[in-house]
Amino acid sequence: MEAITSETELVERYTEGEGCIYNDFGSEQQWNAAEFNKLHLASCRHVRKYSEAAPKLWSRDLDDAVQWLEENRGEDGWSPCKECLGGETRKSLVSRHIAGQ
Ligand SMILES: [Zn+2]
Repeated sequence: MEAITSETELVERYTEGEGCIYNDFGSEQQWNAAEFNKLHLASCRHVRKYSEAAPKLWSRDLDDAVQWLEENRGEDGWSPCKECLGGETRKSLVSRHIAGQ
């Protein structure tokens, strides 16, 4: 996962539409963290807004993103966007994108 550090970079990623973008409120958020920490496709309209308060991370590879999220945010720490990753749950992504699970 790579940090998106400016609005310009976000627009580039969004326009390119490759890979996925994770909206990170961090691991300090205690209440309903999974609902805030959302994984999106890079082309999702929900990632258009740049915010320093909730940094975005980008990965070209969905497998890598899922792996990173499991290691760094964990079971109750993130969820897929219902709009762009419709029908996917954290569980279905983990079982398909992390080898051996
Ligand atoms: Zn989305």
